[in-house]
Amino acid sequence: MKEHLQKVTGLDVYQASISPVGDVTYFLARRGSEKLVGSVGAGKIVGQKVGSLGGKDVIVAPTDAANAAAIRSALPWTAPKCLGLATSVGLGDRLGLATPGHIRAVRGTGLAPILAQQSIREMTRTVRKPQQVMDCATWGVLQEGFRDGFGSDADHVQKLEDLDAVVAAGFTMFTIDPGPHVVNDADRLDPTALKQRYQAMDFSGLETTADALRSCYAGKEFKLAGGSSVSFDETELLRAAIKYGGAVAHVVKAFRKLKSMAGRPFELEASVDETESVTSPAEHYFFAAELKRLGVTWVSMAPRLVGRFEKGVDYIGDLNEFRRSFAQHVAVMRTLGPYKISIHSGSDKFSVYPIIAELTGGLVHLKTAGTSWLEAVRAVARIDPALFREIYDFARGRYETDKASYHVSADIAKVPPASALSDKQLPDVLDDFHTRQVLHVTFGSVLTADDGKRFRNRFYAALQRDEEVHYAALVKHIGRHVAPFARNR
Ligand SMILES: [Zn+2]
Repeated sequence: MKEHLQKVTGLDVYQASISPVGDVTYFLARRGSEKLVGSVGAGKIVGQKVGSLGGKDVIVAPTDAANAAAIRSALPWTAPKCLGLATSVGLGDRLGLATPGHIRAVRGTGLAPILAQQSIREMTRTVRKPQQVMDCATWGVLQEGFRDGFGSDADHVQKLEDLDAVVAAGFTMFTIDPGPHVVNDADRLDPTALKQRYQAMDFSGLETTADALRSCYAGKEFKLAGGSSVSFDETELLRAAIKYGGAVAHVVKAFRKLKSMAGRPFELEASVDETESVTSPAEHYFFAAELKRLGVTWVSMAPRLVGRFEKGVDYIGDLNEFRRSFAQHVAVMRTLGPYKISIHSGSDKFSVYPIIAELTGGLVHLKTAGTSWLEAVRAVARIDPALFREIYDFARGRYETDKASYHVSADIAKVPPASALSDKQLPDVLDDFHTRQVLHVTFGSVLTADDGKRFRNRFYAALQRDEEVHYAALVKHIGRHVAPFARNR
């Protein structure tokens, strides 16, 4: 089939994409750096007739939004679905080019991949729209002929109005981030100040009163699965309520809005991972128990875990302390759930993966994004060293500015200028702690410099010219992420 298709269309056809359904066969192909979708027989896509095969018209069409929707409708496995409690890995693809590499990394591991995943913040920084994120995942899935099913995650949605565009784009999971409603200061208030703040709280969003909420928790002990427990004295309850009460109310609002507008099955994740203050197991209990009382259902939750989950590097902290604390979070999850514990900034946290995999028994979602960007940069270092040097020096200059909204601690003095490195050394600088963080947080600046004219277009061109180099880098690096969680080890 492939040879015949190539002959008729003059295109490079992706063998794995050839998908018969009824009397139509769809396929994905490329011409240079351009991807095209085709059909043999009159299918749902709209394009040009370029010839015929076995008495049927052969159509070649652009990979635009309308044809992506047509492919999702014709081949339902190219559309995202709800994944439930399946062990899952989120593979953010900021460029829209990584999905084939991501699929090859997870295929056969038993993990369910989330292939369309981008936060509103990342979309702003990469100048992409939710629909593009979704469509790129669809084309990647078609290219690889990946029929096992995949999820989608509208990540870190903070404003309720941002839900409109991601719902319209067909996302199936929504990560609600009530971070701006978390009162980090609560950790530092003394008992008198806590009382005042508590009395001044607005309880309407929690559909309760100060007294009623207090009597639900204060002075109570709650047994957890596995035999441990969490308890609240008066002060601990006030602190938990002040810290997370507004956040609970916000998640409730988002859930209800989704329910009224989605009109189809959807999943919700609640994440407070980007807050400054660590979520204690008791606070996790309060947050989850309140969501439950208010009728929210969720598939995963991301507490702010102990230690430092910095971008693009391994966990920084005491592994014994992590294990102790994480075990309690898991106990809360098993008591009030089950749901998955979602590990945000999950890229490159190799030292804690075995602990997480063991304690959750698979009730886990590992969320990554930046690490795939870094693998794209590594691929560019191999494909176009000169371009890499320019980007690298530019990123060095941007780091101090761009790091503001990230948890990073790289020392720019430890990142030598490109002129100090040989071409052979370039891909390996991506293994250095400091260089990784510098290249990680500057992705938006790199992609948008001079409206994309400076680097973006050449960056895409390099990866598209030699896509197998990009995929190979992803398979190797993402493979290390999924291995500790894989069921068929
Ligand atoms: Zn996050």
